[in-house]
Amino acid sequence: MDELMDYADVVENYDPVLGLEVHVELGTKTKMFDAAPNAFGGAPNTFVTPVSLGLPGALPVVNKKAIEYAIRLGLALNCEIAESCRFARKNYFYPDLCKNFQTSQSDEPIAFNGYLDVELADGEVFRVDIERAHVEEDAGKNTHIGGEGRIHGADHSLVDYNRAGVPLVEIVTRPIAGAGARAPEVAAAYVQAIRDIARAIGVSEARMERGNVRADVNVSLRPTPDSPLGTRTETKNVNSFRSIAKAVEYEMCRQAAVLASGQLVLQETRHWQESDGTTLAGRVKSDADDYRYFPEPDLVPLAPSREWVEEIRASLPELPAVKRKRLKEEWGISDLEMRDIVNAGALILIEETVKAGASSAGARKWWMGELARYAKDHELDLDAVPVSITDVAELDQLVTSGKLTDKLARQALEGVLAGEGNPGEVVAKRGLEVVSNDDDLLAIIDAALAAQPDVVEKIRDGKLQAAGAIVGIVMKETQGKADAARARELILDRVNN
Ligand code: ADP
Ligand code: MG
Repeated sequence: MDELMDYADVVENYDPVLGLEVHVELGTKTKMFDAAPNAFGGAPNTFVTPVSLGLPGALPVVNKKAIEYAIRLGLALNCEIAESCRFARKNYFYPDLCKNFQTSQSDEPIAFNGYLDVELADGEVFRVDIERAHVEEDAGKNTHIGGEGRIHGADHSLVDYNRAGVPLVEIVTRPIAGAGARAPEVAAAYVQAIRDIARAIGVSEARMERGNVRADVNVSLRPTPDSPLGTRTETKNVNSFRSIAKAVEYEMCRQAAVLASGQLVLQETRHWQESDGTTLAGRVKSDADDYRYFPEPDLVPLAPSREWVEEIRASLPELPAVKRKRLKEEWGISDLEMRDIVNAGALILIEETVKAGASSAGARKWWMGELARYAKDHELDLDAVPVSITDVAELDQLVTSGKLTDKLARQALEGVLAGEGNPGEVVAKRGLEVVSNDDDLLAIIDAALAAQPDVVEKIRDGKLQAAGAIVGIVMKETQGKADAARARELILDRVNN
């Protein structure tokens, strides 16, 4: 068990510095250097070619779409785009890397010198400087069988090369100082902002649970903000925003305890343990790890023309931070409401629902109410709830046009979620439509008024709220399907004429 210092004491006595390395898998049709499909979930070792298997003599070819996506991402992160850059071989041996080198970029990244303004939970904006964003290929996947899923204690291991050669952009920050007690929040918000951007500009599905976005989290402590940087640890592959924040906090508390006891922090990789929220020592790492980088001789250098770069820049869509600000104003909602919507993963869904014809208030109500509840109960992401944007827009229109009451609309939604069809079909099948036909309503109203002369008296005396009793009867007789406002009008009309 690691010794941990209390978090409040850590931030009082030390200044944390972060470094984030975020890998984004690009959503191209094929891999970075060959024509094998770039897809998720296939049978092991079926999405491979001689290139992704590293067979002798196989020659790589650069995927142009991947370079376009990398430039898109670089531009969205306010980076400069290299006029010329090269791929390099990063040599190391591991079973999931069958070529024995990773094709990457070392001192010539395609994008560099950028920054990202990250919005924190209270609306404060924190700028993170980006050193570089380079293109590389992913490795395959090892699965360790027997034991606890780790190589230690396993009986044997399996290798799947479907992921080998999938295009990645690795985004590396400069050391992030000045976050203080908010370092865990800054780290998580930064990675989330990158995820949102990658999705918004269409370069990746950016699904954390599929490993489309993976973060390595570097943390160090120093006594004061003007002290030199302390020794960092690098916690590998932390795969949810919550875990990123927790990993930063854990490392801060652990390193502070090490330093306070007069020992030195070891420069090492560590592994995040989702099960108990701790980090575990990996291998000791020096800054001079020798990967014997050398220029990849099988690939020509890249020289993206300035015209192409400007074309890509011009085609960038509205970025998430700008969109949030615009929609907040258009919808007339508070910072807090917008934050809830963003945190619920509902922003795009609501925006699309409004585009499909719903009122913004209606779209917000459905996605943040009934549908959010359904997602929670079924442990789904909001966008995985079995309802379409057009369904929700249609439902909202049925309410605004008075064809359904709120209650009937909820029943219609229930039917849609149960797979009975779109809202119109469910309304027809279940007979949910509001009764607003005057003749039908009057038949019920006349009978009710005849049975309750005292109510008629009260209404004539000006006690209009007495009409509520008759409206109640109408609702009961129609199983809640009456247009209550119309019924009330008809009652007053009947009594007073
Ligand atoms: P490595 O090859 O070890 O992964 P990188 O340069 O790719 O190194 O990434 C290291 C990350 O850690 C970068 O984001 C860098 O800015 C950051 N970093 C470097 N030194 C420190 C430090 N002392 N404390 C915290 N972060 C650091
Ligand atoms: Mg690195």
